Amino acid sequence: PEALRLETVVKAYGATLALGGASLSVRSGEVHALLGENGAGKSTTVKLLSGLVRPSLGSIRIFGEPVQLARPKDAHALGVQTAFQEISLVRDLTVAENMLLPEAPVNAGGLLRRRHALARVAEHLERLGLGDIDPRAEIGLLDLPQRQKIEIARAVFRQPRILLLDEPTSALAGADIDWLEGLVAGLKAGGVTTIFISHRMVEVRRFCDRLTVLRNGKDVGTAEVADISDDA
Ligand code: ADP
Ligand code: ADP
Repeated sequence: PEALRLETVVKAYGATLALGGASLSVRSGEVHALLGENGAGKSTTVKLLSGLVRPSLGSIRIFGEPVQLARPKDAHALGVQTAFQEISLVRDLTVAENMLLPEAPVNAGGLLRRRHALARVAEHLERLGLGDIDPRAEIGLLDLPQRQKIEIARAVFRQPRILLLDEPTSALAGADIDWLEGLVAGLKAGGVTTIFISHRMVEVRRFCDRLTVLRNGKDVGTAEVADISDDA
């Protein structure tokens, strides 16, 4: 079955055509790369699927159903969660507050609920191998790799059926990239569909099952990663 389909989507920003009729088909349960140079339309695709911008033309289907993603809430309601390249965490809130807002506000219910919520976040971080990050720490006090990992962990915390990772390794290196590889593999084993946005073929080889290449706002092809020769 198909998790996601974009059908000849056009997105214009004034006179700029960010997407000029892009199509994409992502199978349920796969890790699908969206690969392209700067300006190819990758972030625009992420924004469309996250409910941040609307297509000028064309349609989006999620698990076979035509959908309108007018706001982030609509995407969340359909199980689509995004870790943005430009980290979307609120700097002067804590890790736990960022994880819990806005779907499950901690303001109602008082101390007991807050403690329970904090424990849930701590447990989630532990399970993801991020137990070294204090859920009570303000985002602004974390280093960039930690912030990128929390951006990703937050999307996972919300139990996505479709997870969008936009350049998720931009601040990561070494062991943190191994961490992400383990996380993506674990989610895949749990049936989650992941869309991995990147401009680095070496990462696509490492993380993904199939890839779609975007160029100048159009898809130029989809292939199995295993079928791509080494010098590509
Ligand atoms: P990528 O993520 O692949 O680098 P983008 O989706 O960010 O590509 O951009 C695709 C094209 O759309 C680029 O030419 C970019 O300059 C343009 N673009 C993106 N966002 C906007 C915007 N808000 N206003 C005007 N042009 C935009
Ligand atoms: P059902 O469970 O009756 O198939 P759902 O609405 O739960 O109905 O699922 C619809 C489609 O989405 C099915 O093809 C199912 O395999 C797929 N699906 C459900 N949950 C997930 C998930 N967590 N990750 C990926 N695909 C899923």
